[in-house]
Amino acid sequence: TTTIVWFRDDLRVTDHPALEAACRRGEVLALFVLDEASAGVRPLGTASRWWLHGSLRSLRASLEELGIPLVLRRGPAGAVLPEVLERTGAGGITWNRRYGGPELAVDAGVKQWCSEHGVEAHSFQASLLHEPWALRTGAGGPYKVFTPFWKALRALEIRQPLPVPGAGRGADRAVAACAAGEDPEAWGLLPEAGRAAGLAGTWTPGEAAAWERLDDFLDRAEDYDEGHDRPDREGTSRLSPHLRWGEISPFAVWDAAVRHRAEQGSSPGLEKFLTELGWREFNWHLLHQEPQLHVRHVRPAFDAFPWRDPAEGAADLRAWQEGRTGFPLVDAGMRQMLTTGWMHNRVRMVAGSLLTKNLLVDWRSGEQWFWDHLVDADPACGPGNWQWVAGSGADASPFFRIFNPLTQGRRFDPEARYIRRWVPELAGDSGVDPHEPGLLGPPVGYPAPVVDLPASRSRALDAYASIR
Ligand code: FAD
Repeated sequence: TTTIVWFRDDLRVTDHPALEAACRRGEVLALFVLDEASAGVRPLGTASRWWLHGSLRSLRASLEELGIPLVLRRGPAGAVLPEVLERTGAGGITWNRRYGGPELAVDAGVKQWCSEHGVEAHSFQASLLHEPWALRTGAGGPYKVFTPFWKALRALEIRQPLPVPGAGRGADRAVAACAAGEDPEAWGLLPEAGRAAGLAGTWTPGEAAAWERLDDFLDRAEDYDEGHDRPDREGTSRLSPHLRWGEISPFAVWDAAVRHRAEQGSSPGLEKFLTELGWREFNWHLLHQEPQLHVRHVRPAFDAFPWRDPAEGAADLRAWQEGRTGFPLVDAGMRQMLTTGWMHNRVRMVAGSLLTKNLLVDWRSGEQWFWDHLVDADPACGPGNWQWVAGSGADASPFFRIFNPLTQGRRFDPEARYIRRWVPELAGDSGVDPHEPGLLGPPVGYPAPVVDLPASRSRALDAYASIR
C-alpha cells in the first residue's frame, strides 16, 4: 500500500519522522500543497515565497535520490488532500505536526476525513523540541515567563535526530501520476528580478545549505557570546530561514551543538545559542496559547494603547519601511532587509522600538512589513518578538525601555561598518559622523531625523501612562 507524506514546514529528508514512518510501511508518495485558501491561513510574504520556490526544488532533488516522487498541488488542503488520497488509492498519510491555529484546524479536518474513509493518518512531533502541551507550570497552565519555561524545557529529555531513510521506497510512477502535480514555476512565487537577485546573492535555500551553515557556525560558536549582538560581524548562525522552513530540525541543531560541546568543552557562546533556540520554542508555545498572536495583545491592557492614527503616522511608517528615518542604524537594518530578506536581531529590536515608541505606530504595521520582507518570517517568532518589543507580549521588554538608536549604533557598530555597508550616503569621507549625521547637517541625499528623540520619548511614556 502507498502512504502519502504531506510536507509542510519540514522541507527536509533528515530527521523527518513522518517520512521515516511512511518508508517503514511500504511505498511512499511525497506531497506539498501550497495552501493560501484555507480559513485564517496567512498568505506568505514575498521573501518567503522566494525561499519556498528554492526549497521545494532542493526537496524534490533529495527525494529523487531516495526514489520518492514529489507531487506539488495548490489549493485549500482540506479539499486537495481527500482528492489526492482518493485518486491515488493511498491507504495512509503521515505528517509532522504544526502549531498555528488555522493550520491545526486544517489538519484536524483532514484527520477527520481520513477516519471516515478508512485512511490511516499519523502525525509526529518534529518542529519543536517539546510540544506546547508537554510543558506546563506547576499550576498546570502554559508558561508566560521565559526563565522557568527554559528550565522546564531543559529538564526533559530531547530525542536524538533520525537518519535519512534508506532509498527504494518510492511509490509507483502511475500512482504519482494520478495525483497530477502542478509546475511550481507557474505559481508566480518569484519576485521581480532586482529583489530576487538580492535574495539569491545572499542565500541558498535547502537542506544541504542548512547543514553547511550549521557546521560553519559551530566552528565559531565560542564567539557567539560576544559577537551575537554585533551587526557588523558574522556573529550569528543565520539558520533562521532554514529553521523556519524546517530544512533542518531543531533536534538536529541541538544534537550537533551538544556534540560540539562534548568535543570542545562548554562555552558561554554555545550556551547562549542554545538559549536562543529556547526563545524560538517559547514563541511557538505562545502562539499555541494565542492563535491570533499577530493581531491580539498578550497583555490586554494594550488594547487601549493610543497608537497614532494610521493616516497621521503614514509618512513616518513609509520612511521607516524604506530606510529613510535619518537614524543610521535603523536605516541600515531596514535596507539590509529589503535587499537580503534578513536583518540582524539587535537592529530588529532597535528598528521595532523606533517604530512603536518614538513614532508611536502600531506594532502590527511593522510586523506586517517584516512578514512580507523576511526570509525567516514565521507566525510565532515574528509576532512574538514584535509584542516583546512593543511591551505587550509575554515576558516582554518593558514599554519604558526605549532604545536610543544613536547610542545603540555607537555601541554595537562602533566603527560604523554596518552603517556604511547599507547606507552608502554615509560611506563617503565627507567628515560627517555616520552615527549621527544630523550633527553637522546630513550629507546630500540622506534625510534629517523623522522625529526628535527626547520629545518623542516623553510622548511615548505619556501614552503608556494612559493605559497603566
Ligand atoms: P541566531 O542568533 O544564530 O539564533 C539561532 C536561532 O535561534 C535562530 O535561527 C532562531 O531560530 C532562534 N532565535 C534567535 N533569536 C530569537 C528570538 N528573539 N526569538 C525567537 N527565536 C530566536 N525570528 C524568526 O525566526 N522569525 C521572525 O519572523 C522574527 N521576527 C523578529 C522580529 C523582531 C521585531 C525581532 C526583534 C526579532 C525577530 N526574530 C524573528 C528573532 C531574531 O531576530 C531572529 O531569529 C534572528 O535574528 C535570526 O538570525 P540567526 O539565525 O542568525 O539567529
